[in-house]
Amino acid sequence: MEQVDITVIGAGVVGLAVSAKLAASDRTLVLLEANPRHGQETSSRNSEVIHAGMYYPTGSLKAKFCVRGKDLIYEYGAKHDIKCRRTGKIIVAHSAAEEKTIRHLYELGTANGLGDLRLISAQETARLEPAIKGGPALLSPSTGIFSADLFMDALLAQAQDGGAMLLTQSPCTALERAAGGYKVTAMNQEPFLSRVVINCAGLNADNVAAMMGIDIDAAGYRQQFVKGEYFRLKSPRAISMLVYPPPGEVSLGIHLTPDTAGGVRVGPSAFVFDRKDYSIDESHKPEFAAGASLFLNGVTEKDLIADTAGLRPKLKSASGHSGDFIIRREDDRGLPGIINLVGIDSPGLTSSLAIAEHVSGLAKDLL
Ligand SMILES: Cc1cc2nc3c(=O)[nH]c(=O)nc-3n(C[C@H](O)[C@H](O)[C@H](O)COP(=O)(O)OP(=O)(O)OC[C@H]3O[C@@H](n4cnc5c(N)ncnc54)[C@H](O)[C@@H]3O)c2cc1C
Repeated sequence: MEQVDITVIGAGVVGLAVSAKLAASDRTLVLLEANPRHGQETSSRNSEVIHAGMYYPTGSLKAKFCVRGKDLIYEYGAKHDIKCRRTGKIIVAHSAAEEKTIRHLYELGTANGLGDLRLISAQETARLEPAIKGGPALLSPSTGIFSADLFMDALLAQAQDGGAMLLTQSPCTALERAAGGYKVTAMNQEPFLSRVVINCAGLNADNVAAMMGIDIDAAGYRQQFVKGEYFRLKSPRAISMLVYPPPGEVSLGIHLTPDTAGGVRVGPSAFVFDRKDYSIDESHKPEFAAGASLFLNGVTEKDLIADTAGLRPKLKSASGHSGDFIIRREDDRGLPGIINLVGIDSPGLTSSLAIAEHVSGLAKDLL
């Protein structure tokens, strides 16, 4: 049987970032991907926002990796010629209760290490974004947008330059403990032996962990899909920043994201969904018209066209933002050389380079 040092399962943004970090001339790394191409699932079906990190509990992996990951992405973009637009973002309050929420986010973000957040008056909001229905707001100047696809292409090129081998159309179907590591079985490939296996399988990460013999309910690894749909405004609006409502229980709320062409995306929604299906239900349009109308005058259902949809891999046992990323070596489960990444929902894109740094640290003594 062929033998490799590291197998990364899943070529989404996280598996690509981990592969780019770990690939090196003195070790062999195989990146298994189920689809015909890298980055076709959640990593290319999201808001493409470089989040700042004001939503997550202080000390959580989400807070740490989002704050660090944002800086790393801006650096990476500058180095690899990937345009990252520091648009800034406002979270606008329309009631006393929402004002309380944005004050809380200001404190949380500041505790998480963001030194640039500002609470601004309704007048300043109106000055910054005259086209929106304003109110007092939390301003995050360092939030931005970028192309997740260009980012993933650069990560793949970097991983391959380091010697990583991407095997597409090769879903991993079995993992068995064997002398010197794990026997990896993947469709369209001969089984091979791997010393280290890193599970970055996104929506399927809980099932891959189950292949290792982990009881995913007892471990708290079971995921559920929370779907997010997007619509797009047919006519461009003069908006320069990201415009958000205060967050809800399970998502950041339907927001407005300007794109480079002057268009505006509206979304995403958030609802539990039972299968991998990225179609958009047109009957949900009223929710988006209502969401956009919070900020823009005269938006009706006729102004919206269906855009895209994604699925968040949310941990089933956790609710809302208390569900942190799980990134774990499984030595204590009798699985040395296994690292699982489960529940990598938002801000997983922003956090990807910081997650890769962390995984590299976890794997250090295994390599
Ligand atoms: C609606 C929505 C909006 C979001 N907005 C943002 C945002 O603005 N900013 C932000 O930071 N984050 C955002 N996120 C979160 C972010 O998109 C994800 O956290 C991130 O993309 C997760 O990347 P991943 O590599 O873990 O997963 P994925 O992109 O899902 O990649 C996993 C890969 O594993 C492969 N795979 C699965 N099973 C197997 C197997 N058995 N063998 C081989 N390959 C396998 C899949 O085909 C896939 O390519 C959003 C998410 C959603 C759904």
